[in-house]
Amino acid sequence: MATKPFASSADLGVKEQTLEVLADGVYALTAEGDPNLGAIEGEDFLVCFEALATPVAARRWLAKLREHTDKPVRYLVLSHYHAVRVLGASAFDAEVIVSSEQTKGLIAERGQQDWESEYGRMPRLFEEPESIPGLTWPTMTFRDKLTIELGGDRGELVLEFLGRGHTEGDIVAWIPKHEILFAGDLVESQAALYTGDAFHFDWAAGTLDRVKALGARQLVGGRGAIARGRDQVDAAIEQTRDFLLTMQRTVGDVHRAGGTLKQAFEATHTALAPKYGKWPIFEHCLPFDVQRIWDEMDGIERPVIWTAERDRQVWDELQG
Ligand SMILES: [Zn+2]
Repeated sequence: MATKPFASSADLGVKEQTLEVLADGVYALTAEGDPNLGAIEGEDFLVCFEALATPVAARRWLAKLREHTDKPVRYLVLSHYHAVRVLGASAFDAEVIVSSEQTKGLIAERGQQDWESEYGRMPRLFEEPESIPGLTWPTMTFRDKLTIELGGDRGELVLEFLGRGHTEGDIVAWIPKHEILFAGDLVESQAALYTGDAFHFDWAAGTLDRVKALGARQLVGGRGAIARGRDQVDAAIEQTRDFLLTMQRTVGDVHRAGGTLKQAFEATHTALAPKYGKWPIFEHCLPFDVQRIWDEMDGIERPVIWTAERDRQVWDELQG
């Protein structure tokens, strides 16, 4: 059998980007399984959600957004610390860059390693990487909840930490007036999950329960199509949960039986592939996902930092 190319290093096909208007002044950009983005209009300002991997990539999204509004970006909200979501931040000229306190801590602790790791895994997303001025530093942080008044009759935007999940510090952006949720990577809609920095047990239980309890009628996940209507929203949340629970079961069985990481990987691949194998980044993510949940089962509380070197070791052991 031929060796699989490392992560998404061989994925060079450009994805089509689509801007969708979800409600008056609420925008989302989807890109066939590449990271999604959002923007919410206030009376005289914009809130942008997520920043892509480089300023050059982010400018292409901003050009699309500027066909709808020329308001200045007051807040750039980062759902979590991953490089492909944050390193394009300088393109927004935002007054304030917002994240959870936890995310700011993670950028300080492992932002540089994550940048190098993600660049190696998904080079296509790093359009003109030399345009990145350095790590992105949030200038406003909060622990649990931050409410932004949008002005006029636009209502409010609620930024909230709902528990550990895809990372230690993910936040969502919730617009109660329109029942629209930007869920970041806590929910994927018809895209595979990356769980290499995750807390699988918290995520599958309390965190997703709290996401669901918001009662969104439109949900923009981290990747994949926008879920429209309660049924699609619940389906996206439950797909995310099913992926996590399947991993817990298959890796758990091998771990309890004293098997190897490689056996756990193969059992998980077999269990997930029929349903999720064709979805974006499935093969790319799975070795890193299984390594992390294996670590959790070994009692390693916080995710081990991914470096370009560790990426290759795990890949060669499991997908090689
Ligand atoms: Zn992520």
